[in-house]
Amino acid sequence: MTAGIKVLDSHMHLLTAETAREELAWLPPMSPAVAAAARRRRERYEQEQGISSAESADETVESAASRWLAAFDEYGVTAAVFLALAPRPETLRRFAAQRPDRLFAFTFVDPWVAGAEKILEEDILHRGFRGLKLYPSIQRFHAHDERAYPVFARAEALGIPVLFHFGVTLDYRSDLRFSNPLDLHPVARDFPALPLIVAHAGAGFFRETLFLAYHAANVFVDTSGSGTWMRYLPRPLSRREVLERLLDVFGPDRVLYGSDSRHASEGYRHWLLREHREILEALRVPEENQRKILGGNMARLLRIPW
Ligand SMILES: [Zn+2]
Repeated sequence: MTAGIKVLDSHMHLLTAETAREELAWLPPMSPAVAAAARRRRERYEQEQGISSAESADETVESAASRWLAAFDEYGVTAAVFLALAPRPETLRRFAAQRPDRLFAFTFVDPWVAGAEKILEEDILHRGFRGLKLYPSIQRFHAHDERAYPVFARAEALGIPVLFHFGVTLDYRSDLRFSNPLDLHPVARDFPALPLIVAHAGAGFFRETLFLAYHAANVFVDTSGSGTWMRYLPRPLSRREVLERLLDVFGPDRVLYGSDSRHASEGYRHWLLREHREILEALRVPEENQRKILGGNMARLLRIPW
């Protein structure tokens, strides 16, 4: 029975007016024409999804934390990982510090910046972060770029996981040429003790993500997101098919449940959790493995009791 199983959501974001400011300060500004195109794309997305991505201007980290924790209590979620979207994530740090036993935060660095590995170490050892998120298509670097190797070496030494967003993304400034999960193969090979997580099952690069499972034992996959990418394949997939393939290829120890919940207007994506539970039951996944997928695997990567 999945209902009694503890849930650790491995992929969420904190979006507040403050985090938006931090992100804006980091990214190079867009030209007016590009900014207008970006706005149109976002509006189309909001219309399709029936949500508003506007953050309320006055939400503090304290109120955001109590809002998410109340939603967790309502839907049976014990804890979650929140992923930063810009370097030096101060707002996210203060947010996670509200409930360090339930709110886990991953930091973000630009790997080519001089001393990036030292910034990472400081974030992990002194600022409460539990892992690293990288976004190659926005940061415009290939995951295999050796300029990033000192960061990977430090992450491996610190014993933290590194999560990557490859594949399609809503962000207009992304560049798909940096989005192929195969870029991770040399990294997985050269840092065999470093847990590497491919978010959203590769968000469209599904075949490539499955290949990684064959080549490297230290590659994990998260199931988060509304699954928009499943439509943009030569033959569309269902969530059930995706989960079935992931479990077949990665096995129950390397698949992490995630929702990618983010917007206050949308709330916790509890329907995704319900769908995951239903599919795991329908696939007759043994309870022991359901426990791993819905939380135990991420808890192991975070090195927390579960
Ligand atoms: Zn995300």
